[in-house]
Amino acid sequence: MTNTTPQKVRFAIIGAGFSGVAVSIRLREEGISDFVVLERAEEVGGAWRDNTYPGAACDVESHLYSYSFAPKKDWSRVFAAQPEILDYIKSVVADFDLSQHIRLGQELLEARWDQESQRWLVRTTSEFYSAEILISGTGALSDPAIPSLTGLEDFTGETWHSSQWRHDIDLTGKRVAVIGTGASAIQFVPEIQPTVDNLRVFQRTPAWVLPRHDRPYSPLEKRVFSTVPVAQQLNRQRIYAEREALAFLEQRPRLIKPVQNMAKRHLESQVTDPTLREKLTPSYTLGCKRILISNDWYPALTQPNVDVVTDGIDRITPEGVLTTDGHLHEMDYIIFGTGFQATTPPVAHRIVGRAGHSLAQQWGGSMRAYRNTSVNGFPNMFIINGPNVGSGHTSMIYMIEAQVDYLIKALRAMQSHGADVLEVTEVEEQRFATWMQERGTGTVWTAGGCSSWYLDEHGRNTLIWPGHSFSFRALVSTFDAGHYDLTSTVRDGDLATVS
Ligand code: NAP
Repeated sequence: MTNTTPQKVRFAIIGAGFSGVAVSIRLREEGISDFVVLERAEEVGGAWRDNTYPGAACDVESHLYSYSFAPKKDWSRVFAAQPEILDYIKSVVADFDLSQHIRLGQELLEARWDQESQRWLVRTTSEFYSAEILISGTGALSDPAIPSLTGLEDFTGETWHSSQWRHDIDLTGKRVAVIGTGASAIQFVPEIQPTVDNLRVFQRTPAWVLPRHDRPYSPLEKRVFSTVPVAQQLNRQRIYAEREALAFLEQRPRLIKPVQNMAKRHLESQVTDPTLREKLTPSYTLGCKRILISNDWYPALTQPNVDVVTDGIDRITPEGVLTTDGHLHEMDYIIFGTGFQATTPPVAHRIVGRAGHSLAQQWGGSMRAYRNTSVNGFPNMFIINGPNVGSGHTSMIYMIEAQVDYLIKALRAMQSHGADVLEVTEVEEQRFATWMQERGTGTVWTAGGCSSWYLDEHGRNTLIWPGHSFSFRALVSTFDAGHYDLTSTVRDGDLATVS
């Protein structure tokens, strides 16, 4: 039962992952401390708290996959594993003294714009807030997507999603089905393969896979990064530049052939069986789906206890998975590596705007936001890591930081205009949405011949920023107050100063 009198706060931030933490740090830098971060889990960390499946690691190098303002000099290896990344987020929260703002175990139930008070009324599972500004930082990977397969509820064994790993279950000697062959499955399959008796990997679409150039950093390298800050910065910039080179090719699919050939050679060097090779060879242009990196995925699939099943799934029976060829694969467990509700974030159903309808209703299955951040009809709301901010080629933290800069500029504009309510105009939002879709035309994400999780139910790319990350930063580097309605209302409290 939530309280009936709301607790007044200036900012309510949803989610204590990389976005929510970045926003909190910047607000504190601006001298603002009147904010709460509402986190449904009992710990900070977002996707890096939830995804504890065996082998979970980042496929962006850690010296880039970290905040620019909080470099970690002693990353243990080139691509850090999940526990080290989670430790990093927790250490940032501690270093910046953010715990006082974070409300753990408070799931957002509803955030509703109240026209009378010109504030957001925010209900969580245990509290009720009235906030001047609402910031959503829930990201694209917070809610698992489990396909609605006929008969799933009748399966007599256990099932779970990769982001909700059942560490209490011992897979030794068991028959395990894995559905999905994306970035998550490619990491946990090689980890569980040696343990299980039989592994059936149900693949709908093969992925392009490149070698993973991972290794531990030597003590000397760590010492150099710790004592010579410029060495670490140069390393970060090198990684950044290499990743932008890939983005250059992804925007010009006909130039991407050499990288695709590299992936083909990787497959051929690790898989000798021609039938398996054929199953694992994608028919679309590399980059259309997220490019995966692994040295142990293909070797795992060649093991005698593994079968790659490419027949479609007809239904689930009490005993296992029935494929369209009529074969029943009897299984003890089914693990879903089927990704997340990325283009239809459930949180959008819980945010209700000026006209009384939810963000999900307004979007109608196609997310959009002016400069990827603001939505008409949803005053004083900012979305961090929302529509078309995703990146398959570089660090999401870079994108998040750029967007948080935009948020700060918006707050400063409100201050300088003496406004306490800001809302993007419908015309500008529409103009931007059209530009956004045109910008993606001809890139590998829309013209690469695949159906990826970047595309929504209408076939539009509403998830990925179709370009270089520096062009995104340039886009959000200025705040154009002329594209917003800025209004001033009389409040019973003082506006905090945004300098
Ligand atoms: P994903 O990339 O969306 O992959 C989902 C997989 O499930 C795909 O192979 C998909 O096949 C399959 N699938 C979905 N619905 C299905 C159905 N009804 N029947 C059969 N197969 C189905 O999900 P993910 O692997 O969890 O990764 C999600 C994202 O998380 C990544 O793209 C990445 O951004 C992030 N991530 C990053 C890392 C990392 O940094 N290393 C690791 C894990 C995840 P189709 O291809 O045919 O749709």
